[in-house]
Amino acid sequence: MGNLFVISGSSGVGKGTVIKEFLNRHPEFKLSVSCTTRAPREGEVDGVNYFFLTKDEFKQRIENGDFLEWAEFSGNMYGTGKNYVQKTLNYGHNLILEIDTKGALNVKSIMPESKLIFILPPSMEELESRLRGRKTESEEAIQKRLESTKLEIENSKKFDYKVINDNLEQAVNDLEKILLGVH
Ligand code: ADP
Ligand code: 5GP
Repeated sequence: MGNLFVISGSSGVGKGTVIKEFLNRHPEFKLSVSCTTRAPREGEVDGVNYFFLTKDEFKQRIENGDFLEWAEFSGNMYGTGKNYVQKTLNYGHNLILEIDTKGALNVKSIMPESKLIFILPPSMEELESRLRGRKTESEEAIQKRLESTKLEIENSKKFDYKVINDNLEQAVNDLEKILLGVH
């Protein structure tokens, strides 16, 4: 069986960036592609960044029991495919889920052997500046995402590891130590 790593952090903290750099170093790790009802951002590709579904399609998948976990985040639904996770781990591959903190705690309750990692910004100001700097969300969506931060920090108390994403290279090094089991 492979190991399951769950990575969470506030929107804009740099989860995607850190994970991408880690996967460049370690292509043997797999990353699960989630389903979502949110609209694709410019440049996002169906089946690569997410499987983009309508609300009805998403609800049907919930009814079918297709998801290992799913959660509503900032007005949209997001879910992790159960089959992919089980197959990937059974093949012996190490797998990363990049999901929100509610989903992460759900995964931990289903699979207690999974390792939860929370990525922190160097400051709240820097978090807001990164989220704005990405220029992918409306002002309303940015505010909504920033409002989630309090609950995320609360939920992160139950996580196994924390990584501060200040200097990107340092953050990738820290994540590497955790995922390769060198503490
Ligand atoms: P998330 O996946 O957590 O929502 P992203 O990976 O999209 O966040 O990163 C949000 C923005 O912050 C992007 O514009 C990205 O280039 C930038 N960013 C990520 N990591 C750093 C870092 N260590 N220092 C400065 N900017 C960063
Ligand atoms: P974004 O819209 O910025 O891509 O993602 C918003 C939030 O949804 C992030 O915290 C991201 O980690 C989370 N997310 C992405 N996929 C899933 C998923 O399958 N399940 C859950 N619970 N959260 C997800």
